[in-house]
Amino acid sequence: MTRKKDAPAYTLHWVTDQLAVGQAPMSYDQLDAIKDQGVTAIMNLCAEFCDLHDIESGHGFDVYYLPIPDEEAPDMPAMEEALAWLDEAIYLGKKVLIHCRHGIGRTGTVLNAYLLRRGLGHKLAGKKLKGLKSQPANFNQWWTLRKYGRRTGKLTVREPSLEYKHLVDLSPFFGDYEALTARAEERIRIEEGDCARCGQGHTNCCSTPIRLSFAEAVYVSHRINVTLPSEKRQQLISRAMAAARTEASTTRGLESATDEWCLAVSGAMCPLLEDERCLLYPSRPLQCRTFELSETSQEELWNTELEPALSKLSQDIFLAFTGFFPDESPPRLTLPDVVSGRYVQRFFKYLLEHQKR
Ligand code: SF4
Repeated sequence: MTRKKDAPAYTLHWVTDQLAVGQAPMSYDQLDAIKDQGVTAIMNLCAEFCDLHDIESGHGFDVYYLPIPDEEAPDMPAMEEALAWLDEAIYLGKKVLIHCRHGIGRTGTVLNAYLLRRGLGHKLAGKKLKGLKSQPANFNQWWTLRKYGRRTGKLTVREPSLEYKHLVDLSPFFGDYEALTARAEERIRIEEGDCARCGQGHTNCCSTPIRLSFAEAVYVSHRINVTLPSEKRQQLISRAMAAARTEASTTRGLESATDEWCLAVSGAMCPLLEDERCLLYPSRPLQCRTFELSETSQEELWNTELEPALSKLSQDIFLAFTGFFPDESPPRLTLPDVVSGRYVQRFFKYLLEHQKR
């Protein structure tokens, strides 16, 4: 079959703005097309292609593999586990593709179960599935859904919804932050040319303390959630916690010890560094990017452009989250605290202290 000019190599059928269904991708072109349409996570239900989930992982997707033989339905514990993964991925803001071989029976069964889990009930779930070819295709699959629906029940307390509603739309702030990094990158390119960069060509910045403004912390944490698979995120959290513990024991009793994480003292490396490469290279913090500049240029760039812009952006995000203006800049945060998620606790502590006033 020939493809229309400019049509993507793979057609996604969107159920919501974060959830799509489709058939099994059959080429690297199709995997690229899926990625180009914003999907970063895949639930693969094909028992017949035992390598496809590895290929998808290798292509950079966060993959959940639930092998179901054709015409079959998963058992309840396996379904629960898969839907918990799907819930988390969607909560984290990822776009997810569910596929089996043809995108019909197995995909329809899992999708339908997800709609039931989100509180839609059989009737509303059926309406949502109307027009999609992803539908339970046989008695076995329908029966599984009936059982699942009975266990899950129907929500009556609140309006059923497909997705967690994010309370704050951060995309305009993230756009401003990305524009700021693009300007800094341009300045570095003009001054340093195509020099080896920290996190790829060398790791000199990866053993120095990196501190992030509140805006950067929120952005970096979001990028970790959206771009890294859950298994990798778990490893990162363990590494960040271990690094923080090393620091705590190394600095205990030292006069200069503060609650700042000090890589230089502990001798640890940034938790985002793996095999001498930065796992978050395209979204690494500004301090890592400006590391290549001379001290004078760094100082000038930070004082005249980066500091004021980050401070303004941090105050904007603070206002969007809390509904009130901070009376001073929100605290700076250490990279391991951001990676491990501990920065959220710090932020709430700061919030409580400042609300009391
Ligand atoms: S974020 Fe990346 S480049 Fe920056 S210190 Fe960590 S590993 Fe190195």
